[in-house]
Amino acid sequence: MALNIPREDLDHVVEERKDRLNLKPELDFVIEHLADYRAGLARLLARPIDPRSAEIAGRVEFCDYDQIDLAGQRRQLSPDLAIQILKRMPASLLALSQLGAVVYSDNVPVPNFASDGAFEGGTEWVKESDFLEKVGNEELHPSRILVGVSNGEIIWSTPIPSTVCEDDEAVSMYQIHVFLHEFFHTVERGLRQLVGQPIEDRPAEISEDEVKSRFLNLCGLFMDEVRGGYFRPVSRYSSTYEETLLAEGHRNHDAYRQALAEEMCETFVAYQLGLVPPSSEPTSRDPEYLHKSKENIAKRLRIMQMICNEQGA
Ligand SMILES: [Zn+2]
Repeated sequence: MALNIPREDLDHVVEERKDRLNLKPELDFVIEHLADYRAGLARLLARPIDPRSAEIAGRVEFCDYDQIDLAGQRRQLSPDLAIQILKRMPASLLALSQLGAVVYSDNVPVPNFASDGAFEGGTEWVKESDFLEKVGNEELHPSRILVGVSNGEIIWSTPIPSTVCEDDEAVSMYQIHVFLHEFFHTVERGLRQLVGQPIEDRPAEISEDEVKSRFLNLCGLFMDEVRGGYFRPVSRYSSTYEETLLAEGHRNHDAYRQALAEEMCETFVAYQLGLVPPSSEPTSRDPEYLHKSKENIAKRLRIMQMICNEQGA
Protein backbone atom coordinates (compact mmCIF):
# COMPACT_ATOMS: atom_id res chain seq x y z
CA MET A 1 0.00 0.00 0.00
CA ALA A 2 2.89 2.31 0.74
CA LEU A 3 3.61 2.42 -2.98
CA ASN A 4 0.38 4.35 -3.49
CA ILE A 5 1.44 7.18 -1.18
CA PRO A 6 2.84 10.07 -3.20
CA ARG A 7 6.57 10.64 -2.63
CA GLU A 8 6.08 14.21 -1.36
CA ASP A 9 3.62 12.96 1.32
CA LEU A 10 6.17 10.40 2.52
CA ASP A 11 8.85 13.11 2.63
CA HIS A 12 6.46 15.26 4.62
CA VAL A 13 5.89 12.50 7.21
CA VAL A 14 9.65 11.91 7.51
CA GLU A 15 10.34 15.63 7.99
CA GLU A 16 7.53 15.95 10.52
CA ARG A 17 8.97 13.07 12.56
CA LYS A 18 12.47 14.57 12.49
CA ASP A 19 11.04 17.91 13.51
CA ARG A 20 9.94 16.49 16.86
CA LEU A 21 13.56 17.05 17.88
CA ASN A 22 13.63 20.59 16.56
CA LEU A 23 14.71 22.68 19.56
CA LYS A 24 13.72 26.03 18.07
CA PRO A 25 10.01 25.98 19.11
CA GLU A 26 11.13 25.30 22.71
CA LEU A 27 13.38 28.36 22.70
CA ASP A 28 10.69 30.46 21.00
CA PHE A 29 8.38 29.49 23.88
CA VAL A 30 11.00 30.54 26.45
CA ILE A 31 11.46 33.94 24.74
CA GLU A 32 7.69 34.44 24.76
CA HIS A 33 7.43 33.49 28.47
CA LEU A 34 10.71 34.88 29.76
CA ALA A 35 8.98 36.74 32.63
CA ASP A 36 7.34 33.48 33.79
CA TYR A 37 10.69 31.66 33.65
CA ARG A 38 12.35 34.44 35.68
CA ALA A 39 9.53 34.21 38.24
CA GLY A 40 9.77 30.39 38.34
CA LEU A 41 13.50 30.56 38.99
CA ALA A 42 13.06 33.27 41.65
CA ARG A 43 10.46 31.12 43.47
CA LEU A 44 12.79 28.14 43.36
CA LEU A 45 15.75 30.14 44.73
CA ALA A 46 13.58 31.67 47.47
CA ARG A 47 12.96 28.24 49.03
CA PRO A 48 14.72 27.57 52.32
CA ILE A 49 17.73 25.26 52.07
CA ASP A 50 17.50 21.86 53.74
CA PRO A 51 20.97 21.24 55.30
CA ARG A 52 20.79 17.61 54.12
CA SER A 53 20.31 18.85 50.53
CA ALA A 54 23.16 21.34 50.89
CA GLU A 55 25.48 18.62 52.07
CA ILE A 56 24.75 16.25 49.17
CA ALA A 57 24.75 19.12 46.60
CA GLY A 58 28.16 20.22 47.89
CA ARG A 59 29.67 16.88 46.90
CA VAL A 60 28.80 17.25 43.19
CA GLU A 61 31.82 18.14 41.04
CA PHE A 62 31.70 20.68 38.21
CA CYS A 63 34.21 20.18 35.40
CA ASP A 64 35.45 22.09 32.35
CA TYR A 65 33.31 25.23 32.75
CA ASP A 66 36.56 27.20 32.29
CA GLN A 67 37.13 25.39 29.01
CA ILE A 68 34.20 27.13 27.31
CA ASP A 69 34.67 30.74 26.15
CA LEU A 70 32.95 33.72 27.80
CA ALA A 71 30.30 33.97 25.08
CA GLY A 72 29.52 30.28 25.65
CA GLN A 73 29.43 30.72 29.44
CA ARG A 74 26.74 33.39 29.10
CA ARG A 75 24.59 30.76 27.38
CA GLN A 76 25.18 28.10 30.03
CA LEU A 77 23.96 27.41 33.54
CA SER A 78 26.94 28.47 35.67
CA PRO A 79 28.24 26.05 38.33
CA ASP A 80 27.33 28.64 41.02
CA LEU A 81 23.69 28.77 39.95
CA ALA A 82 23.56 25.01 39.41
CA ILE A 83 24.69 24.47 43.04
CA GLN A 84 22.12 26.99 44.28
CA ILE A 85 19.41 25.04 42.42
CA LEU A 86 20.68 21.63 43.62
CA LYS A 87 20.64 22.82 47.23
CA ARG A 88 16.90 23.53 46.86
CA MET A 89 16.10 20.06 45.54
CA PRO A 90 14.29 17.74 47.98
CA ALA A 91 16.77 15.94 50.24
CA SER A 92 15.05 12.61 49.63
CA LEU A 93 15.56 12.95 45.86
CA LEU A 94 19.17 14.03 46.30
CA ALA A 95 19.70 10.96 48.46
CA LEU A 96 18.40 8.74 45.64
CA SER A 97 20.34 10.63 42.94
CA GLN A 98 23.50 9.07 41.56
CA LEU A 99 24.76 12.47 40.35
CA GLY A 100 28.52 12.81 40.88
CA ALA A 101 29.59 15.39 38.32
CA VAL A 102 28.42 17.98 35.83
CA VAL A 103 30.73 18.22 32.81
CA TYR A 104 30.53 21.19 30.46
CA SER A 105 30.99 20.28 26.82
CA ASP A 106 31.46 22.28 23.61
CA ASN A 107 30.03 19.43 21.56
CA VAL A 108 26.51 19.43 20.18
CA PRO A 109 24.71 16.04 20.32
CA VAL A 110 23.18 15.69 16.84
CA PRO A 111 20.49 12.98 16.71
CA ASN A 112 20.66 10.12 14.20
CA PHE A 113 17.40 9.51 12.38
CA ALA A 114 16.23 6.31 10.69
CA SER A 115 15.18 6.59 7.02
CA ASP A 116 11.54 6.91 8.14
CA GLY A 117 12.47 9.94 10.25
CA ALA A 118 12.21 8.18 13.64
CA PHE A 119 14.86 9.07 16.22
CA GLU A 120 17.02 5.97 16.69
CA GLY A 121 18.39 7.05 20.04
CA GLY A 122 22.01 7.48 18.88
CA THR A 123 23.79 10.80 18.56
CA GLU A 124 26.83 12.19 16.82
CA TRP A 125 28.85 14.67 18.90
CA VAL A 126 29.85 17.64 16.76
CA LYS A 127 32.09 20.44 18.05
CA GLU A 128 30.00 23.64 18.14
CA SER A 129 32.25 25.52 15.67
CA ASP A 130 32.08 22.57 13.23
CA PHE A 131 28.32 22.37 13.75
CA LEU A 132 27.90 26.02 12.70
CA GLU A 133 30.12 25.46 9.68
CA LYS A 134 28.15 22.37 8.65
CA VAL A 135 24.86 24.23 9.03
CA GLY A 136 26.33 26.98 6.81
CA ASN A 137 27.18 24.33 4.20
CA GLU A 138 23.66 22.88 4.58
CA GLU A 139 25.12 19.58 5.75
CA LEU A 140 23.22 19.77 9.05
CA HIS A 141 19.84 21.10 10.12
CA PRO A 142 20.24 24.37 12.10
CA SER A 143 18.11 23.37 15.09
CA ARG A 144 17.35 19.63 15.20
CA ILE A 145 19.66 18.88 18.10
CA LEU A 146 19.61 17.40 21.57
CA VAL A 147 20.75 19.31 24.64
CA GLY A 148 21.98 17.83 27.90
CA VAL A 149 22.94 14.17 28.24
CA SER A 150 23.19 12.02 31.34
CA ASN A 151 24.24 8.47 32.12
CA GLY A 152 22.70 8.71 35.57
CA GLU A 153 25.96 9.70 37.28
CA ILE A 154 27.32 12.45 35.03
CA ILE A 155 25.35 15.25 33.41
CA TRP A 156 27.01 16.59 30.24
CA SER A 157 25.89 20.18 29.82
CA THR A 158 25.98 20.83 26.07
CA PRO A 159 25.74 24.09 24.08
CA ILE A 160 22.66 25.47 22.33
CA PRO A 161 24.06 26.97 19.09
CA SER A 162 23.09 30.44 17.85
CA THR A 163 21.26 28.81 14.91
CA VAL A 164 18.65 27.61 17.44
CA CYS A 165 18.36 30.89 19.34
CA GLU A 166 20.40 34.09 19.60
CA ASP A 167 18.87 35.32 22.88
CA ASP A 168 21.48 34.55 25.59
CA GLU A 169 19.04 34.86 28.50
CA ALA A 170 16.45 32.55 26.90
CA VAL A 171 19.19 30.02 26.18
CA SER A 172 20.54 30.07 29.74
CA MET A 173 16.96 29.81 31.10
CA TYR A 174 16.37 26.76 28.93
CA GLN A 175 19.61 25.28 30.26
CA ILE A 176 17.96 25.38 33.71
CA HIS A 177 15.06 23.35 32.30
CA VAL A 178 17.60 20.88 30.84
CA PHE A 179 19.54 20.66 34.11
CA LEU A 180 16.41 19.90 36.15
CA HIS A 181 15.35 17.30 33.58
CA GLU A 182 18.76 15.59 33.69
CA PHE A 183 18.82 15.78 37.49
CA PHE A 184 15.61 13.75 37.63
CA HIS A 185 17.25 11.19 35.31
CA THR A 186 20.04 10.81 37.89
CA VAL A 187 17.30 9.94 40.41
CA GLU A 188 15.21 7.58 38.30
CA ARG A 189 17.96 5.91 36.29
CA GLY A 190 19.32 3.83 39.16
CA LEU A 191 15.78 2.67 39.85
CA ARG A 192 14.87 2.32 36.16
CA GLN A 193 14.67 -1.44 36.19
CA LEU A 194 12.00 -1.23 38.84
CA VAL A 195 10.03 1.79 37.67
CA GLY A 196 8.36 0.01 34.76
CA GLN A 197 7.24 -2.99 36.77
CA PRO A 198 3.83 -3.42 38.33
CA ILE A 199 4.15 -2.87 42.09
CA GLU A 200 3.27 -6.49 42.90
CA ASP A 201 6.12 -7.76 40.68
CA ARG A 202 8.85 -5.74 42.37
CA PRO A 203 11.47 -7.58 44.41
CA ALA A 204 10.49 -7.84 48.06
CA GLU A 205 13.77 -6.42 49.34
CA ILE A 206 12.96 -3.01 47.92
CA SER A 207 10.25 -2.53 50.53
CA GLU A 208 12.94 -2.58 53.22
CA ASP A 209 14.21 0.69 51.92
CA GLU A 210 11.45 3.12 52.78
CA VAL A 211 12.57 5.98 50.56
CA LYS A 212 13.01 3.82 47.47
CA SER A 213 9.78 2.05 48.14
CA ARG A 214 7.80 5.29 48.44
CA PHE A 215 9.44 6.65 45.31
CA LEU A 216 8.55 3.51 43.36
CA ASN A 217 4.99 3.46 44.64
CA LEU A 218 4.53 7.05 43.51
CA CYS A 219 6.06 6.16 40.13
CA GLY A 220 3.45 3.39 39.96
CA LEU A 221 0.66 5.92 40.60
CA PHE A 222 2.12 8.17 37.90
CA MET A 223 2.22 5.23 35.49
CA ASP A 224 -1.43 4.42 36.25
CA GLU A 225 -2.41 7.99 35.29
CA VAL A 226 -0.50 7.65 32.00
CA ARG A 227 -2.35 4.43 31.23
CA GLY A 228 -5.73 5.37 32.60
CA GLY A 229 -7.00 7.18 29.48
CA TYR A 230 -7.07 10.91 28.65
CA PHE A 231 -3.27 11.02 28.80
CA ARG A 232 -1.69 14.07 27.22
CA PRO A 233 2.10 14.62 27.38
CA VAL A 234 3.04 17.45 29.72
CA SER A 235 5.50 19.04 27.27
CA ARG A 236 6.40 19.31 23.62
CA TYR A 237 9.59 17.33 24.21
CA SER A 238 7.91 14.47 26.09
CA SER A 239 5.25 14.18 23.36
CA THR A 240 8.08 12.64 21.27
CA TYR A 241 7.53 9.53 23.41
CA GLU A 242 3.72 9.49 23.42
CA GLU A 243 3.32 6.61 20.94
CA THR A 244 5.70 4.41 22.94
CA LEU A 245 3.94 5.23 26.21
CA LEU A 246 0.51 4.35 24.87
CA ALA A 247 1.55 1.21 22.96
CA GLU A 248 0.00 -1.92 24.44
CA GLY A 249 2.09 -4.70 25.95
CA HIS A 250 5.28 -2.66 26.35
CA ARG A 251 5.11 -2.24 30.09
CA ASN A 252 8.30 -4.12 30.86
CA HIS A 253 10.28 -3.06 27.83
CA ASP A 254 13.22 -0.68 27.98
CA ALA A 255 11.62 1.64 25.42
CA TYR A 256 8.52 1.96 27.62
CA ARG A 257 10.58 2.68 30.75
CA GLN A 258 12.60 5.26 28.85
CA ALA A 259 9.41 6.94 27.61
CA LEU A 260 7.92 6.93 31.12
CA ALA A 261 11.16 8.41 32.50
CA GLU A 262 11.08 11.23 29.91
CA GLU A 263 7.47 12.07 30.81
CA MET A 264 8.38 12.06 34.52
CA CYS A 265 11.47 14.24 33.97
CA GLU A 266 9.40 16.80 32.08
CA THR A 267 6.66 16.71 34.73
CA PHE A 268 9.38 17.28 37.35
CA VAL A 269 10.57 20.39 35.46
CA ALA A 270 6.97 21.61 35.06
CA TYR A 271 6.47 21.22 38.81
CA GLN A 272 9.79 22.86 39.74
CA LEU A 273 9.56 25.87 37.39
CA GLY A 274 5.78 26.15 37.09
CA LEU A 275 5.86 25.80 33.28
CA VAL A 276 7.24 23.89 30.30
CA PRO A 277 6.77 24.34 26.54
CA PRO A 278 3.37 22.62 26.08
CA SER A 279 2.81 19.83 23.57
CA SER A 280 1.53 21.41 20.37
CA GLU A 281 -1.84 20.07 19.24
CA PRO A 282 -4.09 17.90 21.39
CA THR A 283 -4.90 14.58 19.70
CA SER A 284 -8.63 15.32 19.92
CA ARG A 285 -10.80 18.45 20.04
CA ASP A 286 -13.58 16.63 21.89
CA PRO A 287 -14.50 18.89 24.87
CA GLU A 288 -14.59 15.92 27.24
CA TYR A 289 -11.10 14.85 26.14
CA LEU A 290 -9.79 18.40 26.50
CA HIS A 291 -11.24 18.73 30.01
CA LYS A 292 -10.18 15.29 31.23
CA SER A 293 -6.69 15.48 29.71
CA LYS A 294 -6.18 18.78 31.56
CA GLU A 295 -7.27 17.06 34.78
CA ASN A 296 -4.92 14.17 33.98
CA ILE A 297 -1.93 16.54 33.72
CA ALA A 298 -2.97 18.25 36.99
CA LYS A 299 -3.17 14.85 38.68
CA ARG A 300 0.30 13.87 37.49
CA LEU A 301 1.65 17.18 38.75
CA ARG A 302 0.12 16.40 42.18
CA ILE A 303 1.85 13.00 42.16
CA MET A 304 5.12 14.78 41.31
CA GLN A 305 4.47 17.12 44.23
CA MET A 306 4.22 14.05 46.48
CA ILE A 307 7.43 12.63 44.98
CA CYS A 308 9.18 15.93 45.75
CA ASN A 309 7.70 16.85 49.10
CA GLU A 310 6.34 13.97 51.02
CA GLN A 311 8.60 11.03 50.65
CA GLY A 312 10.66 10.88 53.77
CA ALA A 313 11.19 14.65 53.79
ZN1 LIG B 1 15.56 12.83 29.18
